[in-house]
Order: sequence, then structure tokens, then C-alpha cells
Amino acid sequence: MADHALNPALRDALEALLGPDLSTNPSILDQHGHGESHHPSRPPAAVAFVETEEVLVQVVRLCQQHHTPMVAFGAGTSIEGQLQCVEGGLCIDFSRMNRILQVNPGDLNCVVEPGVTREQLNQHLRDQGLFFPVDPGANASLGGMVATDASGTTTLRYGGMKHNVLSLHAVLANGDTIVTGSAARKSSAGYNLTELLVGSEGTLGLISRIQLKLYGIPEQVLAARVCFPSVHDAVMTVINIMQYGLAVSRLELLDACSLQAVNQYCQTDYPQRPTLFMEFHGSDAVVTEQAATAQSICEENGGEAFISATSEEEKKHMWHARHNAYYAALAQVPNGRGWVTDVCVPISRLADCIDATQADLEAENLAIPIVGHVGDGNFHLLFSIPPDDHERLQQAQRINQRLIARAHEMGGTCTGEHGIGLGKKSYLLQEKGETTVAVMAALKQAMDPLHLLNPGKIF
Ligand SMILES: Cc1cc2nc3c(=O)[nH]c(=O)nc-3n(C[C@H](O)[C@H](O)[C@H](O)COP(=O)(O)OP(=O)(O)OC[C@H]3O[C@@H](n4cnc5c(N)ncnc54)[C@H](O)[C@@H]3O)c2cc1C
Repeated sequence: MADHALNPALRDALEALLGPDLSTNPSILDQHGHGESHHPSRPPAAVAFVETEEVLVQVVRLCQQHHTPMVAFGAGTSIEGQLQCVEGGLCIDFSRMNRILQVNPGDLNCVVEPGVTREQLNQHLRDQGLFFPVDPGANASLGGMVATDASGTTTLRYGGMKHNVLSLHAVLANGDTIVTGSAARKSSAGYNLTELLVGSEGTLGLISRIQLKLYGIPEQVLAARVCFPSVHDAVMTVINIMQYGLAVSRLELLDACSLQAVNQYCQTDYPQRPTLFMEFHGSDAVVTEQAATAQSICEENGGEAFISATSEEEKKHMWHARHNAYYAALAQVPNGRGWVTDVCVPISRLADCIDATQADLEAENLAIPIVGHVGDGNFHLLFSIPPDDHERLQQAQRINQRLIARAHEMGGTCTGEHGIGLGKKSYLLQEKGETTVAVMAALKQAMDPLHLLNPGKIF
């Protein structure tokens, strides 16, 4: 059921504009009231499926006239309660605004609509020898990835969304459209509104067009996997690899508990020991040399059974465990829903942070998978909690609270990549302090004075 019905005059105007592209079907409303997380669904009063920037502008102007909240929806894979329509209103679904408008190989960039997914874009680019590297695991929309400042397994080499967006078109709460950048690779012209919008979780503007950097598909990609006696040894290896300056493109950790879950879920037989997965991109000679150096660093830290691969099939098999870790963790608990933490610390503190977190889990008698984009100092605990298990939920919240306090003490952050949404509002305040959050609130007030865009999130 919808939380707050639409004002009848607005509903009539939206119906006249959108026809069947306006939905109040209860299952569609429910599907649009949540992302991929434990946060309960808070459905909108209606969903508008927009197909063009022109229609989007008209929808926004109507909502502004009627003081109606608007929540953008990409692919619905966000984790921190970004999509819940806490004040009802209209959900604007961008999945049909999914055209790739330009690919400019000479300038290594492209222009896309926000509903294009990263897999769709890479499929389109493959024949031209190009790719877009940011990979959050899920097949997210590029609009959603901009809005959450997504990053992932390749961030180590190529950066996250904030490093790869050249320019945005964004429709503001009053229906005006701004263009934030240009095709130039750098610019010092005025305030950086591109980076202000990246990570704004749909609270400052609705992204209607994105210009992205692209990269040439590397001549050779070498993937490798290596097991360690302990998570501590694996993480010390990561620190050594990073401090050595190796040009590793992916560097991911799965602990023994994660691999046990993957083996059960995928019927595989990965060694159930802390394991690093890595990837090197470059010429044949470069990747071979880099992998050999990485292997020596691993062995100095007790790494065993270093396996490497360059064929597509072997690489796919090697990354299979990492790509299935989240769903394998969920499957461990009947009717479990994902409850995922996400901290990031300076790389030199990563081993201390993971050691203390493991000790904390042991003290609570818990075996929870730990996975991480460890080359960035970023890791997650993958809890799986049935919706009615309040005791387990409170336990996860306590562990998360201590984990975030630990990350803050170590100079880190309460979220490396999943964002604030509803779930981390209090931690944002702890991390940034009142004065800094007040500046964020003033920017929100200036750009959206009626608080219509994704209200209730971040602050
Ligand atoms: C298995 C799994 C693994 C994941 N791993 C990672 C990971 O490694 N790294 C990572 O960063 N994330 C990860 N995530 C989280 C998620 O994939 C990202 O947050 C992703 O960027 C969300 O994109 P989306 O299209 O699903 O956005 P949605 O969930 O639909 O929306 C997310 C936010 O963006 C806003 N939004 C969407 N479209 C627009 C638009 N056009 N204009 C303005 N605002 C908009 C929404 O209002 C909302 O606030 C993972 C999720 C899953 C399920």
C-alpha cells in the first residue's frame, strides 16, 4: 500500500502526461520502495517511468507545483536504504531512459542516459576495444552509480565514479537543467558541481545525462589467486603490495567463512582459507613481471598455492567466488536478507582493523563472511538476517557501531562505497561533525528549498 496518496490534481496531470507510464500497481509500488537490503519497503504513491529528458522536466515541474517528493530509481541495488519513499510521493524510474547517445573513441569518452547499466555499456563498447571500468558487482544503472559514487573491484587502478565522470546534466527540484562539466579531461572553471552531484543520492538533482571516461581494453589481463594461513597474513601482503607500488588492478579478499559459503552455494571446491584474488592489466611482459613480483611478496607472507590465469574461461572461474560471495552469504540463513557493513580505513591500519573486527565477531560467537576491496582499505561483513530476527539485527547493529567507531579512530570512514541513505545518517554526523554537515544541509537548502528530492536521506 502507498504511504501517502498523490494529490488528485497532480495525479490527473501526470496521467495526462504519461498515460500507461504512470503506475499505481501495488506490486510495482512495493518493488520501488526498497533496494537490496534489510531496510523495510516504503513504497511511493505512484511510479513514473520516464523515457526522455523533456518528459522528466515536465514531471519535476508538476511535482514542484504540488510540493510532492520525488525519489529517483535506477536498478534498485543500493544497500543503505537510499530508495525508501519515507514521505511517499512519486518514484521516478529511469530504467527506460537507457540510450547510449555517443561513443567518442578518439577522446576516450561516451555520453549515456542514466538508465544504461554498466553491463549494457560494456557490451556495446566491446567491439570498439573500449570499456568502462567501474564495477560495483551488481548490474547497476550508471545514474544510480553516479548518485551513490559507486566503486568496486577495479577502483584501485581506474578510480571510482567520481574519477570517471566528466560531465552531468541534472534536472533540479524546480525543473531547471544544469550542465556541470565538459568533454575536457580537466577544468578549473568555478565550483565542481560534477563532484557535488556524484554521491548526492538523488537529494540535489535528477541526473539525466552522463559523460564518462572510457579506457582501452588492456592487451593482457592476468588473474591470480593465493591462499594464506590467516586473514592477518593476507592483509599484510596487501599492505606490502600497495607499498611496493605494484600496478595491480584488482586486489580482493575473501576469508575462510566466505569461501565456505561460496562452496556450499555454488557447489565449488575452493580451499576454505583466507584468499586474495588479484588482477594485472597491461602488456604480456608487464603483467607477467608484476604477477611474479606479487607472487614473491605473497610467499614472503606465507601465501601458498599461487595460481594464475590469462584465458577467459580460467579467469571467469577464478573470479566466480568473488562475484557470488554476497548471494552465498545470504543463502546461509533461510529467508535471510542482506545486512552489509562497509568501512574504509587507511591501508596501513587495515590489518589492525580487520584483526579487531574478527576478535569482536569471535567474542559474539559469530562466523560472518568478511570480503573486501582490500587494496583500497575497504571491507564488508556480510550478515544475513531474517526480517523477524530482532536479536540478530541488534547484534549486527552493535558490531557495526563498534566497527565504525574503530574505523573513525583509525582515520577512516563509515562508508567506502555504499553511501549514507537512511542507514548511516548518525554516523555521517559523527564522522564529519556538525559544522561540516551544516554546510551540506545549506547546499541542499539552496538547491532544493522545499526538500522534495529524496527527502529524509543523508541528513
Ligand atoms: C551484490 C551487490 C554487490 C554490491 N557491491 C558494490 C560495490 O562493490 N561497490 C559499490 O559501490 N556498491 C555496491 N553495491 C551497491 C549498489 O550496487 C550501488 O550502490 C549502485 O551504485 C546502485 O545503483 P542502482 O542503479 O541500483 O541505484 P538505485 O539503487 O536504484 O539508487 C541508488 C541511489 O541513487 C539515486 N538515483 C538513481 N538514479 C538516479 C538518477 N538518475 N538521478 C539521481 N539520483 C538517482 C536513488 O534515488 C538512490 O538514492 C552492491 C550491491 C549488491 C546488491
